[in-house]
Amino acid sequence: MNAKQRREFLKQLFAGVGLGTAGAALTASAQTIGRTSPYPEIKSGSDQPFAYPPKLRVTKLETLLVKPRWLFLKIHTDEGIVGIGEPILEGRARTCAEAVREVTPYLVGKDPRLVMHHWQAIYRHAFYRGGPILTSVLSGIEQALWDIKGKLLGVPVYELLGGPTRGRIRVYAHVGGKPAMLKDKLKEGFTTFKTGVFRSTESGVVATQGFVERAAENFAALREAGGKEAQIGIDFHGAITPQTAKLLIKALEPYHPLFIEEPVPCQNVDVMAEIARGTHLPIATGERIFTKWGFREILEKGAASILQPDLCHCGGIMEARLIAGMGEAYYASLAPHNPLGPISLAAAIQLAASIPNFLCQEQRTFGEGYLKEPLEFEDGYVKLPTGPGLGIELDDDKLAPLLGHDWQNRERYDIGDGSVVDW
Ligand SMILES: [Mg+2]
Repeated sequence: MNAKQRREFLKQLFAGVGLGTAGAALTASAQTIGRTSPYPEIKSGSDQPFAYPPKLRVTKLETLLVKPRWLFLKIHTDEGIVGIGEPILEGRARTCAEAVREVTPYLVGKDPRLVMHHWQAIYRHAFYRGGPILTSVLSGIEQALWDIKGKLLGVPVYELLGGPTRGRIRVYAHVGGKPAMLKDKLKEGFTTFKTGVFRSTESGVVATQGFVERAAENFAALREAGGKEAQIGIDFHGAITPQTAKLLIKALEPYHPLFIEEPVPCQNVDVMAEIARGTHLPIATGERIFTKWGFREILEKGAASILQPDLCHCGGIMEARLIAGMGEAYYASLAPHNPLGPISLAAAIQLAASIPNFLCQEQRTFGEGYLKEPLEFEDGYVKLPTGPGLGIELDDDKLAPLLGHDWQNRERYDIGDGSVVDW
């Protein structure tokens, strides 16, 4: 749909409510707007969903397996607008693609502009609510519906969410425990970094003094490389026992990490809350927590003050916006998780540009080789995209050789006895 067609479409959409053009919108009286509605009247006893006239309909949901391990979604419409999203749970791309196929009969023929209405229908009509697979699929679909709505209206999604709240978006770089890499990233312009725990041996249930000291010395080397102005978070990946987490946090406190991420597995929020009470360092968590209901317990119990919803897992852009609002009431900030592709990052950028309590954004790619125009990075920040919807366009020619993958999650075993350990 070109600009002229979009204008004509919007004119039809708002015909009868005094909003045929932007100028008319400014002069339309509240009385005129309040007297007529763009929606059909809903009668008592009707069990039919409401819809906008004129018709805009979803025609097809198309999934693409994209290397290295992603799943992209295109939602096609009869007006030629295509919305994109990433309905993916890492390591389960094919399962997610199948789950998208199961949602397809619901969405095809429906109006894609009813973003929240469809979220509710897909989430609640499943009866068995939530779960990593279904919530990830719902997240990617929701992103694509926002993309369609933004493209139709000709504005970025952050404008529809009341933004922008900031002029650029701080992103952080992974440094993998390597001081030299941190220095390189500093030169590239990054100011914020993340590392994992340095592993020289397996830690066991209660780590040795040697393990704890080596991990702390490695972080100290990163602090030395970055200086006191660098912000460096450390991710325990929920792979460390509560007993070892306490020892490690105490050893890291002198080096002022930005946050301790997933100090313990996230299934027992009370244990994470106990860890949080035992240190002045901020605790971060959220990549394996889903929807507002998952984050409710984290906030109520004071288990974390930095929330890391993944916009491809938590329920999508609006669900992350709601989580941000809940967090604001607890003086918590957002550092959304994103080890995925450029659509995931673009969705997260739209969120960051529309919330007050944003801290920093994880990223792995700005979209080189995937997008017609990659997101622009400068001085540690991504520039605010100004394009409609998610603000990006896939480059189908560049994607063609990257289609198809068989990514498997890695396996990890204890070097002493071969038992399963987390990664
Ligand atoms: Mg993590």
